[in-house]
Amino acid sequence: MQPDGGARIETRDLCKVYRGSSRPAVDAADLTIEAGEFMTLLGPSGSGKTTTLNMIAGFEDVTSGQILLDDADIARVPPHRRNLGMVFQNYALFPHMTAADNVAFPLRQRKVGKKEIARRVAEALELVHLGEHGNRLPSQLSGGQQQRVALARAVVFAPRALLLDEPLGALDKKLRESLQLEISRLHKELGITFVFVTHDQEEALALSDRIAVFHEGRIEQVGTPDELYETPVSHFVATFLGDSNVFTGHARDGIIDTGWCELRSAGAAQAGPVALVVRPERLRIGASSEPGANVLSATVTDIVYQGAFRRVFVEFDGGTTGQIRDTTSTAPVTTGQRIEVHWPGDAGVLVPSDGVAETRVAASPVTAR
Ligand code: ADP
Ligand code: MG
Repeated sequence: MQPDGGARIETRDLCKVYRGSSRPAVDAADLTIEAGEFMTLLGPSGSGKTTTLNMIAGFEDVTSGQILLDDADIARVPPHRRNLGMVFQNYALFPHMTAADNVAFPLRQRKVGKKEIARRVAEALELVHLGEHGNRLPSQLSGGQQQRVALARAVVFAPRALLLDEPLGALDKKLRESLQLEISRLHKELGITFVFVTHDQEEALALSDRIAVFHEGRIEQVGTPDELYETPVSHFVATFLGDSNVFTGHARDGIIDTGWCELRSAGAAQAGPVALVVRPERLRIGASSEPGANVLSATVTDIVYQGAFRRVFVEFDGGTTGQIRDTTSTAPVTTGQRIEVHWPGDAGVLVPSDGVAETRVAASPVTAR
């Protein structure tokens, strides 16, 4: 199990339209995954993550576009010849086979010799800390252990990349976190490319070198966790990754007119509909005397104690809701209290307004209030 640094995977203008469907499940996806990188495909359910992964794996036909593996077009390469390991959410172990036999399966398929199989299976089980459990049936293993067997089976044939589709989705929170660490360690030890699918933003932020954010079949942004958090390019990315305060309005001459207040923001010089995104940790409670600061009046609607900080939920006087991450230990605010909230004019990020907030209300009048 000593591969040579992992595969570089590239999709070019990749599209998938399922038979009988009018809307593409994956729409013009351009994505370059560097050799050895931990790339996460992140997005809500139905956004095209699994379809993309399955096209890379070869389980799903490509409608148009290209997939390159180390610069070679793999359109005509069958799945088992792509040399990619795959792990699914539901383990997909053979129930009548022991853990060791499950792990041996890909090697038998590849006609590896008996002695070599025994050696590599032992090594793979050791790698996932299941050296003692080779003789057990899947039914005799916990969910976390079964997923470790699936991981061992996926890497035993020394693939150049490992594709993981929501591998921790079926596990409870504690177990999920411990397996996250395990997967991170595996990535470092194996040194191969990982493509990891999840809808869980915290999981993505914790594990990834870079994240590709999927939204309705399109890749909306690709970047490091930091880049996505600090400089989201869209309303969707800003609200999907982490908590945000979003003020929609019209930009003109460095000022955003929300219809109920005027806000300053660096970069608001360009005229047009925009959304100003400000992270909760950038807001401060109280008045500000700093020049260029934004100050709004609000009412505290809820306070959630989180240990090291409080999440203070507010309704601004214009009706927009927001939240503040309050780390001060003195003079905590109370529910119903009238407060002032301020933030520096350069603390927010301006993104094109895509009308998400408005659409959501319009599309679901029953649940809107
Ligand atoms: P995700 O993994 O992000 O939840 P998927 O790739 O599974 O998303 O699905 C993307 C879109 O394609 C969804 O609208 C889904 O309903 C549709 N879809 C997925 N698989 C099939 C299929 N086998 N046949 C038809 N439509 C499908
Ligand atoms: Mg999926």
